[in-house]
Amino acid sequence: MTGPATVVKAEPTDEILRLDDLKVHFPVKMPFVQRLLQRGETVVHAVDGVSFGIRPGEILGLVGESGCGKSTVGRACVRLVKPTAGRIFFDGQDITKLGGEKLRALRRRIQIIFQDPHASLNPAMTIGKAIGHPLRIHSSVFGPQKTGSEEFGEWIRQKVLNAMKEVGLTPEEQLYDKYPGDLSGGQKQRAVMARALILEPNLLVVDEGVSMLDMSVRAKVLELMLDLKRRHKLTYLFITHDLATAKFICDKIAIMYLGRIVEIGPAREIYADPKHPYTKALLQVIPIPDPDRRAKKVLPRGEVPDAVHPPAGCRFHPRCPAVLASCGWEARDFVDFLDEHLSDPKRAGDDETILGPIEDWRAKGLVASLETNPLKVRKAVERTNAVLVEAPVAMKQAVESVSSQNRTVIVRFRSHHQLLQSNVQGRVVECLLYQ
Ligand code: SF4
Repeated sequence: MTGPATVVKAEPTDEILRLDDLKVHFPVKMPFVQRLLQRGETVVHAVDGVSFGIRPGEILGLVGESGCGKSTVGRACVRLVKPTAGRIFFDGQDITKLGGEKLRALRRRIQIIFQDPHASLNPAMTIGKAIGHPLRIHSSVFGPQKTGSEEFGEWIRQKVLNAMKEVGLTPEEQLYDKYPGDLSGGQKQRAVMARALILEPNLLVVDEGVSMLDMSVRAKVLELMLDLKRRHKLTYLFITHDLATAKFICDKIAIMYLGRIVEIGPAREIYADPKHPYTKALLQVIPIPDPDRRAKKVLPRGEVPDAVHPPAGCRFHPRCPAVLASCGWEARDFVDFLDEHLSDPKRAGDDETILGPIEDWRAKGLVASLETNPLKVRKAVERTNAVLVEAPVAMKQAVESVSSQNRTVIVRFRSHHQLLQSNVQGRVVECLLYQ
């Protein structure tokens, strides 16, 4: 177990939660021999330099596609996962390495609600018992000391009934002794919220907390969250893949892509005028309830790249519709493009015999290379240039040279520009278009 850490005071700030350059990397499990051959650990860059702050009473929406690292950020905030680097401050205190009793006390003040209310409740425990459970764990902080006494039991019962009423889980007396299986999805999520609120936390991390609910129930639970925020000055970190839901309740929005925040700012401004190409793409796929204004339901081509080897430069560059030559093109982008080309018999013609098989290409940083028959090298350079004519303009412009050396064809890319964050009309954007 981690020992109690020294508490370091952050710079004076009015933020209740602050993340500074947070990184969470997970080691990839692989056989010993493979690890030895690779010399060094392979890691998933789940969160790779995330910074933001939330003021008391604010709702920050952390939005992105699945696998972007948003849930890992949430878990790191409640210290369910260990940060690899960076710092987390809660109420002015550095909690990055907190352990033991201090971590337990912290968990009373920051609660997390998960996506699946069915999985969050023990099917063998009555609703009343489940909601009151955290009070038993933290009994030394709350209420009468004599656990197990009649007085203690009655005190818990009253607290639970109040919490149930507060979240609209009524009639509370009747539902108290029910089991999760007797409740609807919406009622279960209310029970989960009551259990989180019973410890009177300051910050709630809601991880896809309404995604599994029907639309009508979802709206009611969101209303409830807003109501609780007003009544208890609660602060939320609201994690979701759904920008439409976030629009409903968030004051601020942070858009996350492959471990990084690409745009963050006031929700109203981001929805009205998104700046980052990824934010624009996400907003375009929100369904519009108007048959005359159908939304374009396509996210940029391709899948989210793997977080073990994130793309160089801007991580969004392989999918970005506004990509520039300086955004991070590298050898593997060319090999991927060539692979697509060779897999299409109409376009490839006899390229497969000259440039294939694709497995023979090596991609290392900015250099892609193919060792071939010395008699075929000239032809291979010629065909590589011809294939590049069909490539996206920005990729073509990023190629510095296509050449040959002995029996090797070499495609070399220019270095990319360093990506910085810029202040753009009231929000922070990480995109070369604004540098
Ligand atoms: S830096 Fe901007 S323009 Fe370039 S790939 Fe990234 S999002 Fe697109």
